[in-house]
This record gives sequence, C-alpha cells and structure tokens, in this order.
Amino acid sequence: MKHINGETNVKTLRFGSGSIKGIGKEIGRFLITTMEVPWALVKNEIGGQPEEVIFINNVDQENLDKLLLKIPDIDAVIGIGGGMAVDAAKYFSWRRDVRLISIPTIVSVDAFLTPAAGVRCNNKVIYVGNSSPDPLVIDYDIIRTAPKTLNIAGIGDLLSIHTASFDWQHAENNTKSEYPFSQDMILSGKKIINNLYNNIDEIKNVTNRGIDAIVEGYMHLNTICLPAGHFRIEEGSEHYLFYELEERLKRSFIHGHIVGLGIFCMSQLQNNQSDYIIEFMNNVGLDYHPQTMKIKKHDLVSSLLNLNNFVKENTHLWFTIINTEKINNNWVQEITKNLIF
Ligand SMILES: [Zn+2]
Repeated sequence: MKHINGETNVKTLRFGSGSIKGIGKEIGRFLITTMEVPWALVKNEIGGQPEEVIFINNVDQENLDKLLLKIPDIDAVIGIGGGMAVDAAKYFSWRRDVRLISIPTIVSVDAFLTPAAGVRCNNKVIYVGNSSPDPLVIDYDIIRTAPKTLNIAGIGDLLSIHTASFDWQHAENNTKSEYPFSQDMILSGKKIINNLYNNIDEIKNVTNRGIDAIVEGYMHLNTICLPAGHFRIEEGSEHYLFYELEERLKRSFIHGHIVGLGIFCMSQLQNNQSDYIIEFMNNVGLDYHPQTMKIKKHDLVSSLLNLNNFVKENTHLWFTIINTEKINNNWVQEITKNLIF
C-alpha cells in the first residue's frame, strides 16, 4: 500500500494477509457490529473478548438508536463486514465518541473510508456524523473470500470520476457550477483513473495489488473531496440514471454495477471518450450489463427517456449533461443495442 498525503480520513492503516489477527487484544472493551457471514470468517482470528456482538440487518436510525441505549460501556467499536455493518459501527462510534476500527470484508462500497455514516430515516438514506477508522484493517485473504464480481464493483465509484468530472466542467462552461470550479481537482481525479488503468489485470483478478489500488483510489478521492466539502468530481449524471432506476423499480442494486451502467450510457451522451471508458470496464470485469442486475430493456429505455424530466423535477441535483442534451428514442435505441439484457 502506498503512503498517501492529505486528508484520507484514515487515522491509521493496517494491511496484509493476516492483519486482523489479535486486534481484539489491543483496544480495551469493545463492541462488534457485523453480519453472520463475515463474523464466521473472523471470529476466531481477532482475539480478545467482545462485550457484545450485534448482528446488523438494517441501518434504520430509529433501530440503531434503540440498540445504542442497550450498549454496555466500551472503549471501541469494530465494524466487520460490508456497508451496513461498517455504517452501524461508524454511527455508534460517533454517538458514543469512542474509537472506530473498520474491518471491511469486501471492497464493493466505500463506506469504510467515508466519514459520515449512511443510515435510513423515513426510508431515505441520510449521512450523519463524522468518524475515521483507527485502524482501517485491510486483510487481503478475508477480502478475497467475497465474490470477485462484488470486489470489482468497488471500482464503480472511482470510474464515475470520468463522467462526473465532465459534468462539472460542463456545468462550469454553462456558468451553472454549484461550487467554486477547480481544474486541479479534476486533474487529480484523472490521476486516480490512470492509476487504476495501470492495474486493470490486478483488479480483475483481485490480487493484493488490485485491492490496494481500489483502497488507494478511495483514499486519494478523499484527499481531493473532503477539503472541498463535496464529491462533485465523482458524482454526476451516471448516478442520476441510477437514482431514476431506483425510484422506478423500487429496489436496490450493487452500487458499482449500476454506476457502471450509468457510465456506459452517460459517457456516450457526453461524447466523452466513451470507447476508452467502456473498454476499461470490459477489461476490468465490471458487471455493468442490465442482465446482471435483472433490469429489463423496456425499463431502462423508459428510465433514459424520463431522465430529462427527472432532473428538472429533482431540483437539488447538480447541473449535468442531462440538463442540456435532449434524450430521444433514436439515441436510446442506438446505445441499448450494445447492452446485454
Ligand atoms: Zn456512488
């Protein structure tokens, strides 16, 4: 793992095969938030005796607050698993003001690196609090027990820099940027993508180096976006297609897969080196085709055709290519030809 300067939102980092061993003996009284599968993987390795192990099956704020009342006195919280277990740990650590230890068992989402905890409130995800892992533990062998396609999905929210940065530039060109525009941020984002590009085979095969490349990418992204206070270079029109589909189909998706589909469509709408980024996604093995997500062709077509309206109605969304390019049926038919349903 490379040393990264700046606000990475990681206080300390421990990585390597077997790096989870014995961590429970070093941190005083601790609580664990996890799920059954990841817990089975690590429970004999981490050492020490947890005050309590809480299995997390939802991140409803009301539910987490109820659990919070029953939690014993602790010095630390360890979050072990994917997004939800880690988000719950972040929430508890923030509310109790105790040390956070993050042990992601998959790198499919960046919850283990972002400061705010994603919780559900009135059926909407909101981001609250502020926490930094101390340490973040990246144990390659543990992470490799997760399905490859899910670990590779971790690249989705980094490749979205390709389309989102274009959108920000596009907003600036139209004098619609919501934030002070920064070419430096865009150039730094490009470096993240280039670094991933140099590690395509490693990521595809989920090697140690490939896992590092994804984690380093997110840490770099934090150093660019946390000081600015927004993730404009990483979130744009590709995410808005996902929001539309989520509202339309009322179900969740593997985040990196659906963002990949957004990159496929929006890079073409933008006329933004779409051949390059689509080939990148193909070569790295990102499963962005609708078939993987069980999205039917008529749903995707309807969603794309509704996008212009969707961004008009949702006035809080940032200005992107969707605000200026009218999406018509011919174009939709043309681009969906190359997708697998
Ligand atoms: Zn995202």
